[in-house]
Amino acid sequence: MKQILAVPLLAGMFLTACKKEMKVKNHTYGNYDAVQIRHISLDLKVDFETKSLSGSAILDIENKQSANQVILDHKNMDISEVQVDGKKVGFEIGEYDTVLGSALVIPIDDSSKKVQVFYKTHPDAEALQWLSPEQTNDKKNPFLFSQSQAILARTWIPLMDAPAIRFTYDAKISVPNHLMAVMSASNPTGKNKEGIYHFHQDKPIPSYLMAIAVGDFQFHNLGRNTGVYAEPGMLDKCAWEFADMQSMVDNAEALYGPYAWGRYDVLVLPPSFPFGGMENPVLTFATPTIIAGDRSLVSLVAHELAHSWSGNLVTNETWNDFWLNEGFTVYFEQRIMEKLYGFDYAEMLTTLARGELQHTVDDMMADPEQKNDTKLFLELDGRNPDDGVTDIAYEKGRFFLRSIEKVVGRDNWDTFLKNYFKTHAFQTMTTEKFIAYLNANLLDKNPEWKSKINYEEWIFQPGLPSNCESMKSKELERVSKSIEIYKTDKNPESIDTSGYTTHHWLFFLRNLPALHATDMQKLDERFGFSSGGNSEILCDWFVLSVRYKYEPAYEAMKQFLGHVGRRKFLLPIYKELIKTPEGKEMAKAIFKQYQSGYHAVAVNTLKELLGE
Ligand SMILES: [Zn+2]
Repeated sequence: MKQILAVPLLAGMFLTACKKEMKVKNHTYGNYDAVQIRHISLDLKVDFETKSLSGSAILDIENKQSANQVILDHKNMDISEVQVDGKKVGFEIGEYDTVLGSALVIPIDDSSKKVQVFYKTHPDAEALQWLSPEQTNDKKNPFLFSQSQAILARTWIPLMDAPAIRFTYDAKISVPNHLMAVMSASNPTGKNKEGIYHFHQDKPIPSYLMAIAVGDFQFHNLGRNTGVYAEPGMLDKCAWEFADMQSMVDNAEALYGPYAWGRYDVLVLPPSFPFGGMENPVLTFATPTIIAGDRSLVSLVAHELAHSWSGNLVTNETWNDFWLNEGFTVYFEQRIMEKLYGFDYAEMLTTLARGELQHTVDDMMADPEQKNDTKLFLELDGRNPDDGVTDIAYEKGRFFLRSIEKVVGRDNWDTFLKNYFKTHAFQTMTTEKFIAYLNANLLDKNPEWKSKINYEEWIFQPGLPSNCESMKSKELERVSKSIEIYKTDKNPESIDTSGYTTHHWLFFLRNLPALHATDMQKLDERFGFSSGGNSEILCDWFVLSVRYKYEPAYEAMKQFLGHVGRRKFLLPIYKELIKTPEGKEMAKAIFKQYQSGYHAVAVNTLKELLGE
């Protein structure tokens, strides 16, 4: 997943206590030590009128410890019937918890093989977003997409919803016959008249990678095993933007071994998708905000692709180990970018991220409630796993791995990583297991390496260790020099912006001195920020506009907040707004106007922020 919050918002949001004492381990009620789920068969009808999925899920189980019940997670769905090996059985539903949902307790015996649950999802099932035609790019047809990570798969499939549990799946999905369905599995490349689609995922995946989308989209082939799905009105633009995708896959394979999932396609979603991208196997879901028209934001595709190894192939066993998914992925993303676009460009992106990481760590260390969450290994038991989605897992994780590379040398490190992915393919990984593997296969060879890297401090201590590198990029130095000149004369004409990419602009905006609204006006007249089309730059510009009360930008900002649902962009602007009483009023009014267009993930975060 690509979604970095500067500061976690839901910190301190503890789970409500259950009356009926159901055992919870790693955010699931599932008794997975005793009963294993091997395969799931879905048969679901997609109904846009009632905003529901209805049908059944058959779970193939293996009762390893002679358990007399199998316990599943479910949330925001009605269960009408449960059968075990074709026979109707009684079932129990545990107390409802606002984060975890409820346990679904089903009696089984030693010989039980198949558990079938008949159900219908509620319109407010949090994983699913039902969009009206107006909320899509082409504005002609409705659209449905899912976002299951971290623990929302349970809102559309009754299952054991924890990353430690892997299963294969197949599905029969019925949709209105003018629409098409795709999943994190083998996918159709065109519509069929009946509106019935069959899917198979024969590799075992964790529940958070269950995904579905339904809409009017078309497919465009990009290479040997790559392609893009998008609404017809934006398909050409998307295909142009992703021209390098095949080369990304080929380069990634050259780095860390064979791509395990067959095809690698990307589905471009409508703008309300709350994340940048989601690494659903075979089919990454991506925000349209990366379609910048200049291929400047494709590092997101490199990120989601990298998850095909770190995350999807070798999976964090619990959400406390989230850095194993994201830190490795950001590191791998950077290596792919370097291969494709060169060292200087990749280092510029990394330098920009280093600056952001410092801000995040400084902010979190200053807040006693968040200080603990600056450790790589998190303590999320009893909390919402969404609390762990911060710069720490992503960027502190990446800089930790860079520091290992620096000490042991790139060749040793690459050999280690290749073996790491190969040895643990289709398995889960804990922080503890990773440390043991790192020691046995790399650091034990050289005690000096171990003391130089000091992994204990990186993983188990708050803040950034002293051996976290500070970075310089030639390209960004150039921007710094321009800013120095600008500070003296506040004259935008004196700034040389030739060859600026999105990332030069972001660094520029983030390092400007304090300004007056009149300075903002001049910058806007010179560079046309308010009327730009690049969401990354717009987000930073609107934050400054609020900070320096540059009111001519407000109308464009409101439109942006109404159009884009990506949490990464919503949050900084809303946060800047609520710093003043009048800004907070405005933020509340804007949220009220547009919240129906945001995904539940974004709504929950913003409600918390606005105190609603
Ligand atoms: Zn990610």
